[in-house]
Amino acid sequence: NLTVEAIELTRLYGGRAAVSDVTFSLQQGQVLGFLGPNGAGKSTTMKMLTGNLAPSAGSVKICGIDMIEQPKEAKALIGYLPEMRPLYKEFTVDEYLTIAARLHNVSGKHIKKAVEHAKERCGLTHMSKRLIENLSNGYQQRVGIAQAIIHNPMVVILDEPTVGLDPIQIRDIRALIKEIGQAHSVIVSTHILPEVEMVCDHVQIIDKGKLVFNGGIDVLKQQR
Ligand code: ADP
Ligand code: ADP
Repeated sequence: NLTVEAIELTRLYGGRAAVSDVTFSLQQGQVLGFLGPNGAGKSTTMKMLTGNLAPSAGSVKICGIDMIEQPKEAKALIGYLPEMRPLYKEFTVDEYLTIAARLHNVSGKHIKKAVEHAKERCGLTHMSKRLIENLSNGYQQRVGIAQAIIHNPMVVILDEPTVGLDPIQIRDIRALIKEIGQAHSVIVSTHILPEVEMVCDHVQIIDKGKLVFNGGIDVLKQQR
């Protein structure tokens, strides 16, 4: 029951490998921490996993569907919160999530329900009519997570989900990610080790574009 398979993923920039020969897989229900310092290749990997960046070599399969051969089908199974947040802040939460549902091909008669459900899951119901630009960073991040789950994807990929948040917001977003992990396979890209320890059950460590550790959280904690 592999939901994500990254097979020998490589991405070159001007002859230099930002990501080199990265192979790993994710099982249904797993929450994987993709841990590494700035510049290690996390965002580049996340962009390849989500079909937003073409690999120089290697392949990605989502629930067995090849990202290059069947990008529409593969992308439909993924929800993605990119590191660069493309929030259209002049919209209300309801408007934004309705647009997100359309973009994710939720059928017309299901859009309202999908928006309500995503708001409920992300603690946004009371913010429905608020403009996104007037929300705190923490609530804007909830909106970002809500758009990633709006089409009930198999896999949710969150790139640096707590960057720029204050400690209370970080605590709340981590709790939310744990809940999301009850219903979806999740990949959390982060440079913060405690974040992985708190939220994930599995970890891949990437450094200079290469995977250097793969294991359960217990193993990681024992090695500290
Ligand atoms: P991380 O997300 O772990 O901080 P990135 O995947 O953003 O790392 O970047 C990995 C490496 O690839 C870095 O050295 C970065 O400067 C480089 N890189 C990323 N995107 C590009 C790009 N579009 N052009 C050239 N180099 C890039
Ligand atoms: P990220 O870690 O998410 O890639 P950055 O701030 O490193 O964020 O990069 C912002 C944008 O610039 C991204 O689209 C990235 O691919 C690109 N980029 C990153 N590093 C380089 C680089 N050395 N040369 C050109 N583009 C880059």
